[in-house]
Amino acid sequence: MTDKYAEPSNYIDRYAVVGNPISHSKSPLIHEAFAKQTNQNISYEHKLAPLDGFEATVRDLIAQGYKGANVTVPFKFEAYNLCDALDSNAISAQAVNTLLFKNNRIEGRNTDGVGLRRDIEQNLGIEIAGKNILILGAGGAAYGVLNSLVGAARIMIANRTLVKALELIRGIQDCEASRFDELDMPYNIIINATSTGLTGEALPLPDVIFNKENCLAYDMMYGRETPFMKQARENGAQVADGLGMLVEQAAEAFYIWREVRPETLSVIQLIRNLPKS
Ligand code: NDP
Repeated sequence: MTDKYAEPSNYIDRYAVVGNPISHSKSPLIHEAFAKQTNQNISYEHKLAPLDGFEATVRDLIAQGYKGANVTVPFKFEAYNLCDALDSNAISAQAVNTLLFKNNRIEGRNTDGVGLRRDIEQNLGIEIAGKNILILGAGGAAYGVLNSLVGAARIMIANRTLVKALELIRGIQDCEASRFDELDMPYNIIINATSTGLTGEALPLPDVIFNKENCLAYDMMYGRETPFMKQARENGAQVADGLGMLVEQAAEAFYIWREVRPETLSVIQLIRNLPKS
C-alpha cells in the first residue's frame, strides 16, 4: 500500500514505516519535516504489512531499492529476529524499530530509549541521574527504554503480570519488580509504558507513588489525557505525553540513515498543532 507521501522515483532515497495498523502513524509527516529542514531528498511512506507478512514486506522493500524502514506495532520483535546485525540498544531491548538496508544486509537499531531520554532531559529539562524511577508496563516499550535510564538511583518495574516484570529485570542491578497495587513509595519519574492509553483503562495505582516535591509523570501515549495523566495531575505531578519521544526517536532514526541531525522542537510543535483526526 502506498500513499500520498510516496514519490516513486529512481533518484530519491526511499523509506517507509511498516506496521499493522499503520495509516494513523505520524512518522511520514515527521520525516517529511526533517527532510525539508535538512534539504534531504527522500520519500517516506506508510506500508501496511499483513500480520503474517512482515518479512515478505521487508524483502519487497529491499528488492525495490528502499534504504531503510521504521517498524512499529506489532512487528518490533519480529524485526529483531530478521536482522543480520544489531546495535547494543536493539540487543538489550530484544526489539527493533529502525532498519537500515545496506549491501543486501538488514541492520537493526532501537531508537526508543534514546528518544525517551532526550525528551525527558533536553526538552523537559529533567535529569535522569540520581532519580527514583518507576516504569509501568513490561512490554516492548518498557524493554526498549529500560537500558536508556542508566544513572538512575533505582528503577522499579510494575506490571499487571508480575512474572513479565521479573523477566524484564533479570540480571539488571538496582532494578526491582512489583504489582501496581503493591507500590508503596514515591518516585521522581513515572513512565507509563502500558498500552492502557489506547483503551482509556485506568491502572490501580496508589496516590503515594507521586512524589509531592518533585515528580514527572510521563505517558508514552500522546494525543489525549489518559487516566494515568489525570491522576498524576491531580496529585501535583508535572505531566508529559509521548509526542516528544516519538519525534526524538524518529530524529535518531533519521540521523542513522542520513547522518544529519534534524532540529526537533519545531517538529514536535508542528505535530501537536495538527487538527485532531
Ligand atoms: P505491548 O503490547 O508490548 O505491552 C503492553 C503492556 O501494557 C504490558 O505490560 C501489559 O501488561 C500492559 N497492559 C495492557 N493492558 C493492560 C491493562 N488493562 N491493565 C494493565 N496493564 C495493561 O505494547 P508496547 O510496550 O509496544 O507499547 C506500550 C505503549 O507505548 C503503547 O501505547 C505504544 O503506543 C506506546 N509507545 C510509544 C512510543 C513513543 O514514541 N511515544 C514508542 C513505543 C511505544 P501485561 O504484561 O500484564 O499484559
